[in-house]
Amino acid sequence: MLCPECGAEMNHHADKVDYNAALEEPGLIDPDFGGVVEEAHTCPACGRSEVRAAREGAS
Ligand SMILES: [Zn+2]
Repeated sequence: MLCPECGAEMNHHADKVDYNAALEEPGLIDPDFGGVVEEAHTCPACGRSEVRAAREGAS
């Protein structure tokens, strides 16, 4: 994932399961976890943090 701020490649450093997001975005639920798996990314260049649903950006 590229940083939306400066375009650097962001580091994927953590995953979490969001059960509240699952209520809002049922299409993104991972059946193995029973919630939406989110990936936390941090930019090494500018320090920006981004969280996105793992299933959104499977590329
Ligand atoms: Zn950045």
